Amino acid sequence: MVDLSRRRFAATLAALPLLATAPSSLQARSTGPLSRLPVTARYQIGRFEVTVISDGYIDFPFELFTGVTPDQARQATAAVHAAGRNGVRGSFSTYLINDGQRLILVDSGPAGTVSKTSGYLPATLKALGVEAGDIDAVILTHAHVDHIGGMVSGNRNNYPNAEVYIDRRDIRTFTDPAIEARAPDITKSSFAATQQLVGLYPRLQQIDGDREIARGISVFDLSGHTPGQIGVKIEDGGESLNLVSDMLFHPAAHPALPGFGIVFEMDKAAADASRARFFPKAAEEKSLLAATHMPFPGVGRIVKDGETLRWLAADWSYVG
Ligand SMILES: [Zn+2]
Repeated sequence: MVDLSRRRFAATLAALPLLATAPSSLQARSTGPLSRLPVTARYQIGRFEVTVISDGYIDFPFELFTGVTPDQARQATAAVHAAGRNGVRGSFSTYLINDGQRLILVDSGPAGTVSKTSGYLPATLKALGVEAGDIDAVILTHAHVDHIGGMVSGNRNNYPNAEVYIDRRDIRTFTDPAIEARAPDITKSSFAATQQLVGLYPRLQQIDGDREIARGISVFDLSGHTPGQIGVKIEDGGESLNLVSDMLFHPAAHPALPGFGIVFEMDKAAADASRARFFPKAAEEKSLLAATHMPFPGVGRIVKDGETLRWLAADWSYVG
């Protein structure tokens, strides 16, 4: 019986038209560029609809990392079959939270400031039927330009009706001329962007410590990467998602190597310590995380794998 059914199966296959018989003289078919199509993923967390929107990506040169040599960074990315050949490929994810009444954006992407392959957030919002003026609030996880660059274009604010929340410690740091004077050149654009942010958003709220921003949306301390980095917790009906910004860069580095840092971190010891604390705690709590630069959409969990920790990407969420 088994043999017979196998034979029948083989006969069925033989009757199928073969796709591989196209004559080689045919021109290669174009399926069109993806660059102008929105790159999004959507998650339902209780009553919240969370849309991850890619503003683009960058290959961070291997030389920018700290705690490892450029060769070690290259080897670590090769070991996980990373897409970036000339650097660690970093996604730029931003998040649009819809609670049914208000639209809250978390981070605004680099908007072309640090890579040409970025700046897709505004067009994607439009494609989703959201005008910049519809955004009620923006929570900025920290003051690096790849997270706040999209807040301003030229000399105007891009989200004119938004209340903007950012930790006071980052505003203090990135508007301090003395700190700027001794900061590496590569970080200067974050100082300029922070100063513009303060000048162009009269409804900017400098916040201190853990607090609720709206019902079910709260911020918590993740300082280290910057003095005032914060995470955003979205929680409802027994479900939660933690937006953890730059706590994890890439599976090549995190969570296995908490000392794998980046030159933008002005206090490396603080950054390392914060990751060393956070990674095992997140694994213990099995928290669902979303990290800005992890491979898009960067949603997953930290799990224990023997003695080490590793990143486990979440199943794709087919929320319409
Ligand atoms: Zn970043």
